[in-house]
Amino acid sequence: MSSLPVVVIAGRPNVGKSSLLNRIVGRRIAVVEEHPGVTRDRKSVQAEWLGTPFELVDTGGWMTSGDELDDKVSAQAERALTGADVILFVVDASVGATDQDAAAARIAKRSGRPVLLVANKVDDASHENAIWELLKLGLGDPHPVSALHGRGTGDLLDELVALLPEAAPTPLGDEEDDGTTRVAIVGRPNVGKSTLFNRMIGEERSIIHDMPGTTRDSIDTLVMTDDGPLRFIDTAGMRRRARTERGAEQHSVIRALDSLDRADIALLVVDATVGASHQDQRLAERISAAGCPCVVLLNKWDLIPADDRESILTGIGEKLAFLGTAPVLKISAASGRGVHKILPAIFEASDAYHHRIPTGALNRAIRDLQARHPAPSARIRYAVQGAIDPPTFTLFVSGRLPQTYLRYVERSIREAFELGPTPIKIRVRIG
Ligand code: GDP
Ligand code: GDP
Repeated sequence: MSSLPVVVIAGRPNVGKSSLLNRIVGRRIAVVEEHPGVTRDRKSVQAEWLGTPFELVDTGGWMTSGDELDDKVSAQAERALTGADVILFVVDASVGATDQDAAAARIAKRSGRPVLLVANKVDDASHENAIWELLKLGLGDPHPVSALHGRGTGDLLDELVALLPEAAPTPLGDEEDDGTTRVAIVGRPNVGKSTLFNRMIGEERSIIHDMPGTTRDSIDTLVMTDDGPLRFIDTAGMRRRARTERGAEQHSVIRALDSLDRADIALLVVDATVGASHQDQRLAERISAAGCPCVVLLNKWDLIPADDRESILTGIGEKLAFLGTAPVLKISAASGRGVHKILPAIFEASDAYHHRIPTGALNRAIRDLQARHPAPSARIRYAVQGAIDPPTFTLFVSGRLPQTYLRYVERSIREAFELGPTPIKIRVRIG
């Protein structure tokens, strides 16, 4: 089985799907292999663009000849789309959006996969005005191409490749790669991690399942919550309430670093009576480098006199500055106060971390932010979200943009799409 990213070409008959596939394969992409698809109608070829290999699948004729889709055809169409990493949804721009296109577009949208709307048969510039009518399909901005003559296909492929998922950086064990949000609880010894963990799973009153972790002699704990399962990484020490010995500090920090590499979310536990120490700052730095969102838990809040609270919070904000967007929760693991806020914060951060923004909406936001503050030297032509975990955006720009402007772009995207608790990455391509 191929593990390449899968690009599915979809659309009603005669819009030019197979012409597009041949264009992509024939002109600029080396065909490595061709093999029969799952059904007689499906054609699957291995392809490559600018060094990025992918599998290209033509869904063939998955529509009936009438305007309505019958259940069987629509089920078949949906199946074809479930395996897609990106869908190229092809429409015949010389005809415009028909009811059949609209029905097919709804299926494509329902699949939840990223879709690039391809306006085909735009053989020359005089046909370009017709494409804006296709916005009503709700699949974002149309990309004009001519599969027959090749016009626009290079731009389309650039954008396509930017949308493909990146190769997984660390291979995870099969049993772990099940989509369950992975949470690492990190912090210095004695900050209250064990107390907190036992309190959390105690309050969940839920099914708890210890399972081997992926590193040697480690144990993970799967907790079913009302909002879905969470996998807490490397919990052996916390479950056994292992007491810390002298010299154990370094060891536990190293383990924490291991678990961060596998985490979707980090809970950084800080002892409020001590404040953010040098060690906490190093952990924060590593969390930020791991690129996962973080929730800061300021524990032992019960021990802080009311008069000191303000200054402690200010100190934390300054010392953990790189976790700029991370929420800070004041809790007492010992009494349970504030602990109920942790799960919602985890799920909120997880949603933001996995968030995928439709290309059309993203580009409207880019247009708006440039209208508010144009960059001094260059223009952002368009943007795509190339990856999630964390959300990663590629900007296609006409020239160099200053760092301050990129920070403005990042801030604007974060605000427009409420990505608050997750880090995001911005990449720039000039040309
Ligand atoms: P499919 O059924 O969606 O796979 O469509 P085909 O690739 O078989 O194309 C249907 C018809 O549209 C054929 O006659 C193609 O030659 C024609 N066609 C495909 N792409 C273009 C294009 O970019 N411009 C023009 N003018 N005709 C095209
Ligand atoms: P760990 O080493 O990070 O797992 O920390 P522990 O959970 O073993 O806690 C260290 C000590 O702090 C224990 O004596 C706990 O009883 C105490 N502790 C933990 N959480 C709190 C809290 O919220 N308030 C107070 N007052 N003590 C706490």
